[in-house]
Amino acid sequence: HSAKRAALSHAWYSAAQEAARLDHLGLVSDLRAAVAQSQLQMWLQPKFSLAGTGQPVGAEALVRWIHPQRGFVSPAEFVPFAEQTGYITMVTDWMLDQALQTLQAWQTTHPALSIAVNVSTRDLQDAGFAQRVGQKVARSGINPQRLRLEITESGLMEDAQKSVELLHALRAVGIPLSIDDFGTGYSSLAYLQKLPVSELKIDRSFIDGIDKAPRTQKLVKAMIEMGHGMDLFVTAEGVETEAERSTIAQLGCDVMQGYLGSRPLYGAQLQAWLDSVTEAPALSAK
Ligand code: C2E
Ligand code: MG
Ligand code: MG
Ligand code: MG
Repeated sequence: HSAKRAALSHAWYSAAQEAARLDHLGLVSDLRAAVAQSQLQMWLQPKFSLAGTGQPVGAEALVRWIHPQRGFVSPAEFVPFAEQTGYITMVTDWMLDQALQTLQAWQTTHPALSIAVNVSTRDLQDAGFAQRVGQKVARSGINPQRLRLEITESGLMEDAQKSVELLHALRAVGIPLSIDDFGTGYSSLAYLQKLPVSELKIDRSFIDGIDKAPRTQKLVKAMIEMGHGMDLFVTAEGVETEAERSTIAQLGCDVMQGYLGSRPLYGAQLQAWLDSVTEAPALSAK
């Protein structure tokens, strides 16, 4: 009897403890309101080709939460926590809607730019996710190629077999998929080969100071060659200096993203950047 009570109280205690841990910032309940009350913002960080004139190829959508009392809450802080509580699915849906609306707005002015939305493993656990995304894309009338979805390598490894199936369902909708934070998630090459992805995004930990690190250059070169061998585009994340840019360009990397090219943009800053973008000749021909 007392053992059972102890077990129960232990279970209760851990549940309460877990809730308290998650609510240490008082954010759990706030996150639901955040979506409903438009406290979220979609910022866009441009990505640039490393070939030719270095033209922009698109942007990554990064969520920002402007909390009424706390002010800016970093995604590094609330995304992991939104994943644990399941609220991330609301955030993802909201970001997808924003991205699709933006792509609609760019339809005539910037039809060559894509937008990548970050998807969490929690989203992939929902068997209806691919269908829901497919419906959103269909309703928007946007070419699915202009939307991209990023999934972290470590996230993919959480339930490898299931991930393969869900990625195939998403790919069937026509949306290109990217592996985010590549190089940090311990995926096996045998497994990678099965994933229907079209882009590897090399984690910024490899890019930081790469111009001064010959061994890292060899490693990144191998990643790029492996990616190309599998017909993937390879993007370097977190490029901050010209020396880093020229190093990765020399190693054959296709696309760069990072503060050197642009910080994430919003509002007037985003508009100013868009106004400065000249489309590829074929698209802007009058
Ligand atoms: P990520 O998907 O790898 O996104 C890139 C992160 O690197 C962004 O941080 C971006 O601002 C930052 N970054 C870009 N260039 C540079 C650079 O040159 N130097 C440095 N030091 N950092 C750079 P952010 O926006 O704080 O997002 C952090 C992470 O939070 C993201 O990493 C992603 O995993 C997650 N996240 C952001 N938005 C969303 C979202 O809408 N949904 C989900 N599920 N996760 C998101
Ligand atoms: Mg990302
Ligand atoms: Mg990343
Ligand atoms: Mg990351």
